[in-house]
Amino acid sequence: MSAPHRSLWLEQAHTGSTEAPPLVGADHADVAIVGGGFLGLWTAILLKERDPAIDVAIVERDICGGGASGRNGGFVLSWWPKIATLVKLAGEREAVDLARAAEAAIGEIEDACARYRIDAQFHRGGYLWTAATEVQRGAWAPAVRQCAELGVEPFVQLSPDEVARRAGSPVHLEGVLEPSGATVHPGYLVRGLVRVARNLGVRVYENTPMVELDRRRPAVVRTPGGALTADRVVLAVNAHSAGIRELHRRIVAISSDMVATAPITERLEEIGWTGGECISDSQLQVHYYRTTEDGRIAFGKGGWGIALGGRMGAGFDRDQRRAADVTRGFRRLYPNLADVPIAHDWSGPIDRSPTGIPLFGRLGGREHILYGAGFSGNGVGPARLGGRILADLAVGETDGLAGCALVDGQPGSFPPDPVRWIGAHAVRTGVAAKEAREAEGLQPGRIANALARLAPAGMIPKKSASDD
Ligand SMILES: Cc1cc2nc3c(=O)[nH]c(=O)nc-3n(C[C@H](O)[C@H](O)[C@H](O)COP(=O)(O)OP(=O)(O)OC[C@H]3O[C@@H](n4cnc5c(N)ncnc54)[C@H](O)[C@@H]3O)c2cc1C
Repeated sequence: MSAPHRSLWLEQAHTGSTEAPPLVGADHADVAIVGGGFLGLWTAILLKERDPAIDVAIVERDICGGGASGRNGGFVLSWWPKIATLVKLAGEREAVDLARAAEAAIGEIEDACARYRIDAQFHRGGYLWTAATEVQRGAWAPAVRQCAELGVEPFVQLSPDEVARRAGSPVHLEGVLEPSGATVHPGYLVRGLVRVARNLGVRVYENTPMVELDRRRPAVVRTPGGALTADRVVLAVNAHSAGIRELHRRIVAISSDMVATAPITERLEEIGWTGGECISDSQLQVHYYRTTEDGRIAFGKGGWGIALGGRMGAGFDRDQRRAADVTRGFRRLYPNLADVPIAHDWSGPIDRSPTGIPLFGRLGGREHILYGAGFSGNGVGPARLGGRILADLAVGETDGLAGCALVDGQPGSFPPDPVRWIGAHAVRTGVAAKEAREAEGLQPGRIANALARLAPAGMIPKKSASDD
């Protein structure tokens, strides 16, 4: 089998010598976690921090971080842009508590990096939410207004000149800054967390796919070479949740695609993008971009590839047609960097939920099998919060976060495949056609407009915007 295509981050951070061995034979744990991304790793670490005697094992089909956690843009964001959806789900008071908890998670990640000596290049440069076409102007206004009504002010209004100056390109017309936003190097963070988990006594099995889950008590996670029996199982498999029968209608697997330039430190200084802000425009197929410590721009676009039945092929690792489309987006937003070469491209899976907010709970009502999925393209910060929820649930807590509105009973579902696959393709084509016309300052066609209007029903992941 050929080696999987890796992101820039994993190329920089992963050295084969740190890989954990696969599971061979039988093992038993108090808590078995399936999936070694941010969610699974934070759950494991928080369980161990709570009580070192809890016996925890992680089963990961690839290397830990081989999924979205080692491939993302490294934006560490709060949930303030999603406040409207949170209010619908949880009511005003709990929505504010949840958004505050998501913001606090950013600081918790910074603290954990300092405490455990993970050099994840954490940098709090703020999140700049911008408009890069006429129709995108004011996309943040509903979120800003709703926050004001709730008595919170997470956004800072900047002048249009300031937005263009910070972003380093005049294509940015206006925007707001959310100062709590930060960036990390996803590869160093995720591989650092594996080291921490193992040092805390978590048994990590890499290159070990769960091929079957025996849902009886005790549950058994079966793998090609062994079986892990556990009192509690936590499923933290991101977009692969779409292949779990109880979650199939709750999660759609969609790709997000990234490119990275060669190091261009002097050019960044020249254009003035030196504050380390992470930036997005306000398209439905959102463009998101940040600078890196080694002087590159990492630039992504959400929502292009769609998986049938949760089956993600090689196109979810890399797709050159989509990389070319992402590069076109970069060239449009940074005409002043037209000659800068693209040195890397990669893709990864997004677990889109019906509301854009993740779902947590007990699988099919079973107390001993827990799940978390549906971060919808905003999971680097929220996975820390999700880890707290799952760790609480795993020890039988029902109060606090474990009892919040995101746990069991969130509304909404997608149609089953193949209907949703066909529908999602149609919507995506409409959105792409509409946004391509808008980027040129042209009026979109009626059919593209009509199809794009279906998108907020949940087919396209958005990093920001007032999701639904
Ligand atoms: C290109 C891209 C850009 C993104 N940009 C951002 C961003 O800038 N900011 C942000 O907040 N979010 C971003 N996201 C989303 C973010 O990366 C995720 O929400 C977050 O990493 C979720 O972590 P996770 O642990 O749930 O998933 P993952 O990291 O995908 O972990 C799940 C793990 O489960 C494993 N697994 C699956 N099935 C099995 C099985 N049967 N047996 C064993 N293991 C299994 C997978 O291999 C994987 O490692 C982006 C995602 C992508 C793909």
